[in-house]
Amino acid sequence: MRALETVLLAKGYVDPAALDLIVETYETKIGPRCGAQVVAKAWVDPAYRQRLLADGTAAVAELSFSGRQGEHLKVVENTGQVHNLVVCTLCSCYPWPVLGLPPVWYKSAPYRSRAVIDPRGVLADFGVTLPRDKTIRVWDSTAEMRYLVLPQRPAGTEGWSEERLAELVTRDSMIGTGLPHPAGAGA
Ligand code: FE
Repeated sequence: MRALETVLLAKGYVDPAALDLIVETYETKIGPRCGAQVVAKAWVDPAYRQRLLADGTAAVAELSFSGRQGEHLKVVENTGQVHNLVVCTLCSCYPWPVLGLPPVWYKSAPYRSRAVIDPRGVLADFGVTLPRDKTIRVWDSTAEMRYLVLPQRPAGTEGWSEERLAELVTRDSMIGTGLPHPAGAGA
């Protein structure tokens, strides 16, 4: 991406501000909304949740999200006992069909190395403090296997529609570096 971008910029094909805006949109808006719909559906539909955990690729394809870099998708569920965190220690493998483009920090050397060595410290840097007795499980992505975190459904959302629930699902909550918005956050 970066190399192509450099060529396009040098040759004057691309206005840097416009390109930044497009990348930003795919990182934070369009891309992760697909994952948010998957998560919200899993929260309201127990049968879908089971299918999602059993075969993420097939369950995500039910919602017509599929394509490159999403061929083998494993969904890992956060519970009262376990918090999941996704990294790619080698490069930047990421589940494109459900999350869009990876954020810049996901590709950074400090994230890639520290997520494995000190996941609790990384979470603290992202403003996430978990109970001490909660286990943190780190999943190292590869070209063959990508991971999506199924976060815990926020309290106080009983009876909410999928659409409304999806508003609570942040990109970072599906990587494991964040939590969903709480029910009272104005969604
Ligand atoms: Fe990678």
